Formats: sequence, C-alpha cells, structure tokens
Amino acid sequence: MAARRAKAASPDAHATPPGLFAADADAARRARVALPVPVEGPYDYAVPPDMAIAEGAIVEVPLGSRHLPGVVWACDPPDSEVPADKLKQVQRCFDAPPLPAVSRRFVEWVARYYLAPLGAVLKMALSVPAALAPPPPTVAYAHSGADPETLGARMTAARKRVLDVLADGPPRTATDLAREAGCSTGVVKGLADAGVLERVALYPGAAVWPEAVERHGPALSGTQGRAAEDLQAKVRAGGFGVTLLDGVTGSGKTEVYLEAVRAALREGRQALVLLPEIALSAQVLERFAARFGAEPAVWHSDLTTAQRRNTWRAVARGEAPVVVGARSALFLPFPDLGLIVVDEEHDASFKQDEGVPYHARDMAVVRARMGDIPAVLVSATPALESVANVRAGRYDSLHLPSRHAGAALPEVETVDMRGERPPPIQGHGTSYLAPRLRQGIQATLDAGEQAMLFLNRRGYAPLTLCRGCGHRLQCPYCTAWLVEHRLLGRLQCHHCGFAQPRPETCPECGTADSFAACGPGVERVAEEVSALFPAARVQMLASDTVTGPDAAARFVESVRNREVDILVGTQIVAKGHHFPDLTLVGVVDADLGLSGGDLRAGERTYQLLHQVAGRAGRAERPGQVLLQTYEPNHEVMQALVAHDRDRFLDVEAQNRREAGMPPFARLVALVVSGPDAETADALARDLAKTAPQREGVEVLGPAPAPLAVLRGRYRRRLLLRTRRDLAPQTVLRDWLAEVRVPAKARLSVDVDPYNFL
Ligand code: ADP
Ligand code: ZN
Repeated sequence: MAARRAKAASPDAHATPPGLFAADADAARRARVALPVPVEGPYDYAVPPDMAIAEGAIVEVPLGSRHLPGVVWACDPPDSEVPADKLKQVQRCFDAPPLPAVSRRFVEWVARYYLAPLGAVLKMALSVPAALAPPPPTVAYAHSGADPETLGARMTAARKRVLDVLADGPPRTATDLAREAGCSTGVVKGLADAGVLERVALYPGAAVWPEAVERHGPALSGTQGRAAEDLQAKVRAGGFGVTLLDGVTGSGKTEVYLEAVRAALREGRQALVLLPEIALSAQVLERFAARFGAEPAVWHSDLTTAQRRNTWRAVARGEAPVVVGARSALFLPFPDLGLIVVDEEHDASFKQDEGVPYHARDMAVVRARMGDIPAVLVSATPALESVANVRAGRYDSLHLPSRHAGAALPEVETVDMRGERPPPIQGHGTSYLAPRLRQGIQATLDAGEQAMLFLNRRGYAPLTLCRGCGHRLQCPYCTAWLVEHRLLGRLQCHHCGFAQPRPETCPECGTADSFAACGPGVERVAEEVSALFPAARVQMLASDTVTGPDAAARFVESVRNREVDILVGTQIVAKGHHFPDLTLVGVVDADLGLSGGDLRAGERTYQLLHQVAGRAGRAERPGQVLLQTYEPNHEVMQALVAHDRDRFLDVEAQNRREAGMPPFARLVALVVSGPDAETADALARDLAKTAPQREGVEVLGPAPAPLAVLRGRYRRRLLLRTRRDLAPQTVLRDWLAEVRVPAKARLSVDVDPYNFL
C-alpha cells in the first residue's frame, strides 16, 4: 500500500501514461480509433512517425470536417483494409491517462448487450472533454530522501516540525505543511531550497488518504462482524462473485460494506460505491469522510466541469481510492478497481432511460466480472431479480436481521378508505385524510413528535376539468393530463415539460372560472394539513422544490433541528434519512403505484412503501405507519402490515413465473415513433411482419403505447420475449437487419425494460 501511494503521488507517475512506448521502429503505424459519437466504427488512422501511441491512448482524429477525441482501440490491426493513401492521420495524443483495457472491454460489452453503437457507450466513458487537457498542478513538498546533515542544512525547531509532519503522510502544499507544523511557508520553502525537501507536482483531485486504512468504525455486532469478515475475505481473495447484503433499514448494512471498502484500500485497490443520485447527500458523504478521514471522490450530474475533470483524471491515475457516485460512475476509467458496492440496489433510478438505456446494477455485476472482483448489492428490499439470483445459487447472500441496538420496527396498519371516508373540512372543502390519520397526526403533535405524510405525486392536482362541460385540460403534445402546480401558478405536463398558466375560461365552452381541481398532489395535501392543524409548522417537499444534494441536505437539517412538525412529501422524503423524532408516517394513497401496465408495479410499490414506512420511529421511540388504501387485502399491503417481505417475494415470484415474465424470461421493448400515426403504424407493421419465428421467442404487439403521443410523436410498442436461456440480442440483430427505418421514424430498443409507458 505504502509503495503504491508513493508512486501515485510522484509527479512522474502520470507524466507518461502507463503502457505508452517510445517511438521506434516497432511503433504502431496504424491505429484503430473508437469515437464517442454514435457512428459505426471504430475507424483506422495513420500514426505519424514521431508519435508514440498505445492501446487506450486518447487521441485527436479527423472525422469528416470535424476533429474529435477518440480512444485507440487497437494498434496495427491485422485486418485493416484501408489503403495507406486513403488513411487520415492521428492529429495528436492528449496528455491524459489512457482508458484502461478493462474499461474498453466493458464499453464493448455494454454496447453489444444493449445493441447500442460503440461510440454511444464510449461517450459515457469519455464524458469529460475537459479531462483531456491536464489541469495546472499545484506545487507540493515531499522528502527528497537526502540526509539534512550531509547537505549541511541547518535544523531549526520549526524545520524539524515540518519534517515530522511530513514523516507520516503524503506530499502537501507549503500552506498545508506550514499550518500543520505551526510555522511560516518560508520555513518549508527554505527546506526545499536547501535540498531537504523536493518540489513535486500535485494534481487536483488526487485524494489523499492518510488514515484510510487504519480507521475503524463502531464495534460491530456478531452478525454484522461475520458479514463484514465474509466480504473482506472476498475482497482480499479477489475473483468475481456477487453478494446480496440484505437487511432492514438501520441494521448496519452501510457499516458492514464500509469494512469491505476498507479491505479494498488495504489491498491498495480502488473501490466504487454506487448510490441513487438523490441519496448522494452531504450526510452520506460526511459519513464516508468521517470513516476514512478524507472526502471520497464524488460523481454525479451536479458537478462542475473542473470537478469532473479532476475526478476523472484522478480515477484514471489510480489515485481516487474511493469513488461514491451515481450510475454513470460505473464508466469511470478505474485502472485497478477492487470492489463495487451498489447501495439501494433495487432503486429504479439505476436504470437509465435516455441515451443508451442501461441498468447500472446489472452492469456493475458485469464490470465486476471483467475486473475479476467482488460486487456487493445492498438493500432492505432487494429486487426480485437479485433474490432470484440468490435462490438459483448464482449470488451469495448475507442477511442482517435486526435494527442496530434493537430499535423496533414500526407498527403498520391499513386504513380502509371504503369504510373510512374523509369527511369534508368546514370552510376548506374536499379532504384526503381519513379520520384515523387525522387523529394520529394530532396525537403525534400532542406528544411533541413529528409526522410525515407521503404522496408520490408532485403538484396540486393531477387533473383539472371544467364544471360546465367536463372538458379536461390535456397536454397538446402528449397523451397526458396537465398537472396543476399552484405554487408555480402553472399547469404542467410531467412528460414533456410543457407549461401554461391556468386559463381564465374553458377553451371548450368558454365558461369563466369553471375549473375544478380533481385529486390530490402533495401541494394540496399540505394545504389541507395546514387547514386542519393551523398551529403546526408544515413543510412540503417534492423533487421540483428540492433540487440537488445541497438543498436535500438543508431540508434534512431543518427536520432534524425540529423546525418542522409535519412533513408532506413525494418519494424524495423516502430515501434513507434518519429523523429521530419522526414517529408517524401516513401514506395518503398507498394504491397509487399499483395500476398501469408495469410488470414491477407491485414490487415497486412494496419497496417504496417499505422505505417510507422505515422513516417512522428510528430511535428509542416506536413508530406508527398508516396506509390509506382501497385494497387492504392486496398482497403488498398484507406484506407491509405483517413485515413479511419474503412471503411477498414468493407470491410475486410465483406470479411472474406463471406469466412468463422477468426474471424468468427476457424482455426487450421496441418503441416505434413518428411525427404522425401513419408513419409509426407502418414501421410497427413492418416489424411485426418480419418478427422472428422461433421456439422460445415471442413478439407481443404492436400496440399503441400507454403514452400514445409523447412530445408530438406517435408511439407504438412491441415486446420481444425470449426464454431465459436464449440471448435476445442475437434474435434482435437478425430481425432488425431486415427492417428499414424511414428517416422520419425512430426505433428505440430497450433491453431489459423497466419503463412500460
Ligand atoms: P443501514 O445501512 O442498514 O440502514 P447503517 O449502517 O446506516 O444501517 O446503521 C444505522 C445506524 O446505526 C448508523 O447510525 C450506524 O452508525 C449505527 N450502527 C450500526 N451498527 C452499529 C454498531 N455495531 N455500533 C454502533 N453503531 C452502529
Ligand atoms: Zn406533454
């Protein structure tokens, strides 16, 4: 470890990318270069005589009239067919670390699996153009190794303190050293001038981990300790394997996987922890920092260009020992990754729907296999896919059965809305809170505790209609109602972003002031709560009011500081926060996620409500959860009430097996779209006509998509289903080769779809 750290800190270690050989008679004359654009390719280029190039090097090449960065995929490919006089030249080689071989193979694998162009996937690995130019280094100071006496350097007390400070740690800037040694920067510079210290270049983003390996977390319980040892042994041994770490919220899963991360660091290797974007809060990062003595490198969509560049380069140089990131962190150029952890592995946000639709949890497993390292999937409500893999013996599992320090699970009850209808509130109108929930809130407030109401719907009301003629306000571009956002004073489409002010008169019948809001969104529930409990401090939270990790952190603080009595929120409040005084959780509409054509509707509802319920009663106070539902006998509600996750998973697995749905079969969704219904229908028909006819393969559809019009484009869906042991990619490639997609139309392919809209 020590040797490795010293190497990473020395300036020469990254002046020349590893593997780069000098220009000589054997040097590559041709390079096959992959470009981060969705074209076919890679393409071959000539390498100028004075240029040294190795596989993985990042170079600039001409493409048409443009110059683009690209990655050398092969040197002197034997099958290069382009005549020498037709070859264009590599323009230059960037002063950037190369894309490691394992990353290149991973990019290829992802492209093949998702039937995406190589360049579209490479773009995710090379998403930081600014990273190609090295940032200006800072000057840092390290021991030169020379003996001060031999140099005849004078040794003052201050100078001695500087040397002591440097003795246990990496090179630091003069300012840092002076502060730690309690002297002026002049003392540090004087030592350098005397030759006792040497000046080295320190690149920003190079995380320094003085105590990373030595620091311990809390003393683990027996079960936690055994789980941690199991994972640590796997990390030490190396080799591919997947472990599902499963345990209720608060059972210490994070503590356990942090121990595995520590083992990777001790091996001198990097570790990657993937989290859902929203979970990348300051709170989580602080916890990592406290554990390892330094901030981990972070990776999410909110970073500045400079932060991205510094992190990308640090990772590529093997200097960022721990990276905590959202799904795209998987494409960072780790040269020596030793462990991947996917926390909240069931979270739907690991599936990317735009661009290349990939699933980061699944690809984390692939990346681990390619790196021959362990992967750990962590969740209190694991995905059925992961559980099925454990049951089939493909994954190991570790179970943490109880909350740390014996905190009790909350008591979960259903409120049957068929019998317990909310009476209207005098002077306010319609109510969405049943009497039992209102009483629960009152009791909680009386006890000086906090309550949370959960409704997974942004805005004020999901539907606005005219009392005069029944006209419903719809998005002009989508098959969707406009959602009223009263705080913004607008009606919005949640699919395309279209927004308009609330019209004064009905566009259909011309009646003025005739609109009625139908159904609740969080804004409306917050309004009702304020009317019912005028003395309480009510705070409303939704993804459009809390944007980014900083805002999320501020909100968490305000709840912890007791500046809020009643919280009303969308799923943003469901994610792993610890609120010690929150003892009541009310779910306004527990049935909300159950309808629709999503094969995972039940599973997702269970996961979400379980997570929401887990917010209640974290500390010594027991919590209570009330689920307002019209289907109290639904297996999801029953499982929540009985705290019987495994029975729910059994029923769910049985249903999926019988229906021939994942994880017991494979799906690929094909969505055809066009500017008019005819174009979309014609392409859908062509696809249906050439559909594969094979045993174990089936094509469902075409049918209009539930979102039949989106952003003005008409959409049709087909679903390819294959047996689990058949690779749908081969079938699909043959099929699509026969179909011509007209210029006006688009065909998007979604392997292992999660979205059925
Ligand atoms: P999970 O990830 O399963 O939700 P955490 O690892 O976050 O659980 O643990 C929940 C809380 O309990 C954290 O504050 C954690 O520091 C604490 N905790 C867990 N295990 C222990 C332990 N063995 N000793 C002391 N505190 C612990
Ligand atoms: Zn729209």
